[in-house]
Formats: sequence, C-alpha cells, structure tokens
Amino acid sequence: MDKICDLHIHSRYSGGTSNQINIRKIAQNCRLKGIDIVGTGDCFHPLWLKEINLNLEEDSVGLLTFPRIPQVKFVLQSEVELLWKHNSNIKKAHFIILLPNSDKLKDVSEFLASFGNLNIDGRPVLKISPEKFIVSMNSFDKMIEVIPAHIFTPFYGILGNNLQFKSLKEALGEGFKFVHAVETGLSADPTMIRCIFELNNLSIISNSDSHSLHFHRLGREATVLDLHRETYRDIIKSIRENRIIKTYEFNPSEGKYYYDGHRSTRHSSANSYFCSPKRNTIYCPICRDTLTKGVLSRVYELKDSEMPINENFQYIIPLLHLISIIYGGSEYDNKNKSLYREIVKSTNGEYNIWENNTDFDPIPNELREAINKIKLGNYWFIPGYDGVYGKLQLGQNFNHI
Ligand SMILES: [Zn+2]
Ligand SMILES: [Zn+2]
Repeated sequence: MDKICDLHIHSRYSGGTSNQINIRKIAQNCRLKGIDIVGTGDCFHPLWLKEINLNLEEDSVGLLTFPRIPQVKFVLQSEVELLWKHNSNIKKAHFIILLPNSDKLKDVSEFLASFGNLNIDGRPVLKISPEKFIVSMNSFDKMIEVIPAHIFTPFYGILGNNLQFKSLKEALGEGFKFVHAVETGLSADPTMIRCIFELNNLSIISNSDSHSLHFHRLGREATVLDLHRETYRDIIKSIRENRIIKTYEFNPSEGKYYYDGHRSTRHSSANSYFCSPKRNTIYCPICRDTLTKGVLSRVYELKDSEMPINENFQYIIPLLHLISIIYGGSEYDNKNKSLYREIVKSTNGEYNIWENNTDFDPIPNELREAINKIKLGNYWFIPGYDGVYGKLQLGQNFNHI
C-alpha cells in the first residue's frame, strides 16, 4: 500500500515556529492535505512530549494516533543539531531521528541529556559528533533511524558549503554504515543527489521541515512509501530497502538556498544580490562580504558521477501558494484558505490534484489552467538564495535558469 509520509516537522517549541501548532491541528491538517503518516516533531522536548502523551495513543507497532482522526498516524520524530570539533574546526549539522516507541525514546532522551539541554529548543543542540551519535543510536536499538537532514544546505547540511566535508563517509566515519537515506531539502532534488557517487546506494526521502501548520508548509515535500504493513518497523524497512514509490519535491529553484547570494536585510541599502554559481563569484558586490553559497554551487563542487537518473519524483507547488498567486493576497487570507479547503475536501487531499486530471468541480478555470501549466513544466522561478524563497513565474518555460 502507498502511504504519503512527512517525517520531518517541528512543534511550537523549536525556534522560528508558529505558536499555533498543536497535535489536534497537525492531525486535522494532515487529514485534509492527504498526509497518511507524519512525524511528531521535537519528541525530545519535555513539554511537547507531554502533549504527545496526552493527545496521542500509542499502539503496539510503534505508531501513534489522535483518536478522533485515526486515518493519520504519527511516528516519534525529532531533528537534532549536532555540534562537534573536527580537525580543530567547529562543525554543526542537522539530523532527523525516528524512534520505534516511547520506551526507547525515554532511554535515548536520558542518554542525550548529557550532551545538551533538551528543555531549551525543540530541536536540541547536542555536543556530540555524528559518528558517536549514529553509532550510539544503533546500539540502543537497530530500528532507530538517523537521516542526515537537508544535506546540501549551506549552514547545517552535512554536505553543505560551511561544513566543507568532501564526502559523507568523511563526515560520519563509522556512522556511515548505519545511514540508509538522506533528505533532499527544499533547494535540492534527487537528480542533484544522484550525481554524487557515494550517495547512490542510499534512499532519498523528502519532507516538509515545516515550522507551521499552514497548508503551503506542511507536506510541501513528502515521500510515498510502499508499505507491506502499517507499522513503524515496516516504515523503516521500506526506507532501508528503498521501497520508495516517489518523492514530491519543490522545484529546487524555489528553495531558500538554491543560488549564491545575499538577501536584502544584509545591506543598509536594502538591495539584494544573487547569481548563478557559474558566475563563480565569492564576494558580494554590494557589501564585499563572502556570499552565501547555495546548494547548486555545492553540488557542482561535489559532483563526481554522471549516473543515469532513474529516480522517481515529481515537482509540486503548494496549492495554497498557487491560489494566492492566481487570486492575489497571501496564503493567510481567509478567502484563499476557504477555496483551498473546499478543493481538497472534494479531491480527497491535495496530492490527488497533482496525480490525476484536474477536472475536479470546485477548481475554478484559471486555477485549473495554472495547475496544468505546472504539470507541463510551463513555469519557472526567480531562484531562491540566502534564505529567500524563489518566486514563481507562470507561463514561459525558463527551467534552465
Ligand atoms: Zn534543519
Ligand atoms: Zn552583501
């Protein structure tokens, strides 16, 4: 059975998140959007864990359910920020961790508390190397899964520009053999991962890394797994055995770290600057500081393989975002949100719109045309850079930008 999974989200206890996030709303919004299995986010944070325990019922196969919305299953999940010294340089990187049940979570939390304060941020900062972290997690339980998050992003991606590792093996040491998958992140797609030889045996997953409950964030990237059974164990096995039907992806140029650049807030003039990595510019022409190198730059540096691409993935654009572009206003306007709700209720989730023909009744003509343009690739983005999302342009096909 195909299950749409978003295995990396955050609670309101992580930095930069909406204070509206709660378990009931996650379950409701996953149901509307069409997500079958979702991470709890931030499961090491004691206050969020309290809410998980109060609101969700855990079953014997490691899944949790909000009783009023039994169709949506939760998995115990957190992102962690590891901080360590490598050849006398400080490194920081983000990892997703999935846990098989709350007993194991308790043991792991006690262990991790000696490496950092779990009470401060939903995404705890832990002073431990990825090698020690991954090897320790494996010795706690073979079914704990650690996945490098948004691997190419400049500041916290394990292969990102700031960390300057030449390979995942160099970064993870003995931990490398316990890693089975990597997460694309919004500014990369599977084709960018597959041009690095050492990553070719790993599965590729995509998740939203959502910091809010809004429909243009939750499930904006997702992974469709082929499950034999709806259990935690089979979710992990399907990732390890690469039983991945497809991923739903942002077009990387929409991501916040695709091109090299400096956002406007870095400059007193409020002007921004971005350029293609082919420009090969190190310094910002406005402020003369080093540019934030994007994911595309980094992939050019690491690329060592011309493997044929047989990865199954599909670009999608959050429907609520598309609605706000077609009808004006923002994703937060009630009129846009109510049209969104009307559509996804009748189409049984947002992903069906991208899978099937778009002759669904409540979709107005102009929106239907826009959806079809996206499906045909008849759109492009002013690329994202240095924390700024790309801007969608419908119409001419400038995908090569
Ligand atoms: Zn992260
Ligand atoms: Zn600058």
